[in-house]
Amino acid sequence: MFDSLSDRLGGVFDGLRGRGALREQDVRDAMREVRIALLEADVALPVVRRFIDAVTERAIGADVLKSVTPGQQVIKIVSDELVEMLGGEETVGLDLEAKPPVVIMMVGLQGSGKTTSTAKLAKFIREKHGKKAMMASLDVNRPAAQEQLKVLGEQIDCLTLPIVQGQQPVDIARRAVESAKLQAIDVLLLDTAGRLHVDEALMAEMKAVSAISAPQEVLLVVDSLTGQDAVNVAKSFTDEVPLTGVILTRMDGDARGGAALSMRHVTGKPIKFAGTGEKLDALEAFHPKRVADRILG
Ligand code: GDP
Repeated sequence: MFDSLSDRLGGVFDGLRGRGALREQDVRDAMREVRIALLEADVALPVVRRFIDAVTERAIGADVLKSVTPGQQVIKIVSDELVEMLGGEETVGLDLEAKPPVVIMMVGLQGSGKTTSTAKLAKFIREKHGKKAMMASLDVNRPAAQEQLKVLGEQIDCLTLPIVQGQQPVDIARRAVESAKLQAIDVLLLDTAGRLHVDEALMAEMKAVSAISAPQEVLLVVDSLTGQDAVNVAKSFTDEVPLTGVILTRMDGDARGGAALSMRHVTGKPIKFAGTGEKLDALEAFHPKRVADRILG
């Protein structure tokens, strides 16, 4: 994760660290290299600009350049701003405190890892929050999508809503909420249908399901490997449905990190979880500070 970005930044910092004195020009030279590293990592241009401006403004302050360890101070500023870029100091967790069944609606494009993430999250909620979860697949487009969720449910020992062939998503959502109430379920996860592209039919379906189920959380699942596309998809969804957060999948294979680094500022939505593998326990709560530390090595 973030390996290539981490290597590039490491090189820049080696040039700064341990120097007794820094001139303004040294900072500007270092920031030029950081800028290239971020662009190569596929971070969105406005986000890169904002980052470089913020770091430069703070770093060329007299207090920093005249301090005993100017290089270290610049690196600390980069670290602070990186945390900010990733979403700030605070980790934004799930809001599960409403009256049960709390509904979590999972949305996203086909192949993003939505169904897998639904099962991962159900497992996470049971293990980390101690809540009873149930899952329901509303994906009537892709053959076997409902079966896939059922099989995953069996693997993690989580209830799934029985499949009724021919039922439409809104009706499945209604039935799922009713069933969750009857079974005293704490958290109901709705795995909505994916599509190849963001289109009107998809958005209309999301809105109808949302109206029926009143979700506490609407989580968008996007594939980090698609870089800026992931951010653009998130932007399109943000304009249509009230997202409460993002799950970035395939972070295990993402050496660049552009989606993770751009998401918050481009969409205004927090990344809540990172998918880090195919296994059903490969889901991590997203902590900006820890991720920044990982990038800075
Ligand atoms: P959906 O069409 O969005 O529901 O996608 P699926 O959940 O079926 O996932 C598609 C493929 O991506 C499956 O083979 C998953 O095992 C894989 N996958 C999902 N999340 C991750 C992840 O975080 N890391 C890796 N390496 N693979 C993942």
